[in-house]
Amino acid sequence: MKHLSQEWLAELNLVPLWRQRTAGKDAGATTAPVVAPAPLPATQNNHLQGVHNRGYLPHLKAEGGIYFVTFRLADSLPQSALDELERSAPETRSKQIETYLDAGHGECCLRKPEIAQIVIQALKQFEGERYVLHDWVVMPNHVHLVIEPRGAHALSDILHSLKSYTATEANRSLSRHGAFWQHESYDRLIRGQAEFDRCVQYVRENPVRANLAVAPDQYTYGSAGFVAGKDAGATTGEVVAPASLPALAPDEIAQLDWPQLKHAAATCTACALHAQRTQAVFGVGDEQADWLFVGEAPGAEEDLQGEPFVGQAGKLLDNMLASIELKRGEKVYIANVVKCRPPGNRNPEPAEARACAPYLDRQIELMRPKLIVALGKVAAVRLLGRDASIASLRGQVLDYRGTPLIITYHPAYLLRSLTDKARAWEDLCFARETFQGLTKQASATI
Ligand code: SF4
Repeated sequence: MKHLSQEWLAELNLVPLWRQRTAGKDAGATTAPVVAPAPLPATQNNHLQGVHNRGYLPHLKAEGGIYFVTFRLADSLPQSALDELERSAPETRSKQIETYLDAGHGECCLRKPEIAQIVIQALKQFEGERYVLHDWVVMPNHVHLVIEPRGAHALSDILHSLKSYTATEANRSLSRHGAFWQHESYDRLIRGQAEFDRCVQYVRENPVRANLAVAPDQYTYGSAGFVAGKDAGATTGEVVAPASLPALAPDEIAQLDWPQLKHAAATCTACALHAQRTQAVFGVGDEQADWLFVGEAPGAEEDLQGEPFVGQAGKLLDNMLASIELKRGEKVYIANVVKCRPPGNRNPEPAEARACAPYLDRQIELMRPKLIVALGKVAAVRLLGRDASIASLRGQVLDYRGTPLIITYHPAYLLRSLTDKARAWEDLCFARETFQGLTKQASATI
């Protein structure tokens, strides 16, 4: 039956040419060589040669080919990257895209097991019926497939249905609306065994290249490490969290650039806080900011949204910033001492603050702010490297590795202690005067 159906496919011109050419040599192939049909006019055999419109899906793709496909989350490429790609040479573009994607830009919500599972379940749903999945991987912000459509199922239809279903389900799970995937998918017709092998290897090793696993089979969101479900009736496998990776050493973190640093924090397992986080909360704002505000740790809302200081304390911080004519994101950066949420919103333990210190230190080194404001005792102790009360530290220009440092109360504390709000206002006025003094000093020395 196997070679009969292959002959039919060949007659219908639905077998990839490279398969027809290698059919006789392939150890697993039929003993009767498949006879390649007479070449069709160029207008009719486009599906074998691959009709590609600048690497993006044309409306129709015929069956019979094997495709390397990439689709990515809507926020996976920053506008600056898209602008840069627009200017770059077409032949280097796909490599640049992969580098950006592997740096883990955006929210990376495919890292969440429940979202990855939605995608994996959808992929498995019609495997064997509508397509053959030769290999696949669900990365934090994109998906790669080596896929062979079957029968009358066109690749564009398969991807359309897969992306729209998973977008709806993922948005529902995340309680949000809007674009989940980028509209375009990138696809390429695989033209021979060597290219097929390269694509499969590329897909399998993507998690290793992105530092998400030490070996392909340790990454469970990909075909190499996927663990099939134990339920005999299940059509899908059970998604298991990726195995822990060895933590980066502080001197390795100290060499990272912004995208690498974000990615390293997002996948960090250096302290126990990683086990319960929804995501690491890296920081928000202008990466070349003059002002850096440092809090202690993400809370429940921050853990869900991936941004520091949201909720009531965040609103108060925004009001505090506005009172000195500052705005979140404009020459202001906000970060925390630890990037992952401590359970029960407790303060981070000293060991957790120490484990996370290389990330904040590197953020400050890359940013080089003119002034740092520590919000609360945890941030003050961490940045000063010594214990002291907030009361004893207020009203002074202290020092963090050569950068002026001012201490005030944490907004969450101020929500509970209205009497200290007036003191916090004094601290902010003091910070603004200090900043103005620093700016004058700098322009006088130019
Ligand atoms: S809190 Fe910091 S050190 Fe701990 S796991 Fe998160 S990023 Fe890593």
